[in-house]
Amino acid sequence: MRTILITEGKTKVESPNPEDFKTGAGDYAPSLTKVFYNPNMELCRDISISVAQVTAQMFNRLYICDPLAGIGIRGLRYANEVKGVARCVVNDKSMDAFELIKRNAELNGLSNSVEASLADANIILLQNRGKFNFVDLDPFGSPAPFLDAACSSLSRRGMLALTATDTAPLSGTYPKTCLRRYGAKPLKTEYCHEIGIRILIGFAQRIGGLHEIALTPVLVHATRHYFRIYLQGQRGAQRADELLKEMGYISHCNACMRRKISYGLITELPEHCECGRKYSHAGPLWTGKLADKRFIQEVIADLSERNFGLKHQEISLLCRCAEEADGPPTFYDLNRLAGFLKKPTPKMGELISAIRSNGYFASRTHFSNTGFRTDAPIEEILKIIENA
Ligand code: SAH
Repeated sequence: MRTILITEGKTKVESPNPEDFKTGAGDYAPSLTKVFYNPNMELCRDISISVAQVTAQMFNRLYICDPLAGIGIRGLRYANEVKGVARCVVNDKSMDAFELIKRNAELNGLSNSVEASLADANIILLQNRGKFNFVDLDPFGSPAPFLDAACSSLSRRGMLALTATDTAPLSGTYPKTCLRRYGAKPLKTEYCHEIGIRILIGFAQRIGGLHEIALTPVLVHATRHYFRIYLQGQRGAQRADELLKEMGYISHCNACMRRKISYGLITELPEHCECGRKYSHAGPLWTGKLADKRFIQEVIADLSERNFGLKHQEISLLCRCAEEADGPPTFYDLNRLAGFLKKPTPKMGELISAIRSNGYFASRTHFSNTGFRTDAPIEEILKIIENA
């Protein structure tokens, strides 16, 4: 394996040469190399650094586990760039990865706080029961096989960060896989990525429930080919029960675009929409808030003080996430609604102001540039577009 020295954030690492697994148009096939490194995940990692910094301020000291580390870039960046990291276990089951992790820890002078480890992710997590207050599951594929062990490794209060790159099953392209892997039905709609993220959150919460941990989302984003969610964990059976009340289903009408939310894991679903057509259903999934606005604002404040190359993209992504944080589940696609009415597409900003002036919530959404989130009934939205 040819390696080169690269710098991400403030951290130097020896990595497989990205030129060797470039597929063109700025894309990479990192799974082709002996040790995994994806340059396109830098934005995701930069945000993670600031999330960890905000979490460190809440918990004083961070005890981190990066159990699926590849070259170690995440764990090493946490140890190197976040203030308050007491211990960071950087683990991979591949010997080649382990050797690189050790060399990269030395390269940054991190041998004190970083523990390089060569083990199965589930084993290292189970061996550290209750020891970590920041666990970052960043697999290639689904985080589902590691969630149970990750929950048992969390301390009384802790942050669980998850990446899922199996967005096709979660978003409804492979519904059977989603049902098998996450015990939930996805749905192909204009907001299928949001449904996928809500299914992933709901699944993680049910696993958290086994451990009497309530996992509340504080920030989520769907970017490129992956979903990223940050769940703040707190032990307590009662708290975990409270969250279950916000588990539910989304019913979607393909004819008139109406959506209905049903609450509760076990609940009756409406069969027919008010327009007379049959509803399609997605769930069980998390119907509650996707983010905590104040938390995101602190993350933005931390990011703004750092000197990252992608800063602008990251901050505009997080601003969108903050803007939509207090909105209801699901969003509409402006082009689709205008097409439905056979009207020219109105300006997004004007539509949002018009909906707000009628007393409803309205915002853009980070999920789609042509999407908007509102609690206004579909009839009201259509009327506003009709009269625009
Ligand atoms: N987090 C890395 C990407 C990791 S890709 C980054 O930010 O760049 C997934 C990694 O998990 C691979 O290096 C693979 O070797 C490792 N892996 C897969 N299954 C594992 C398991 N069961 N236990 C430990 N490591 C595993």
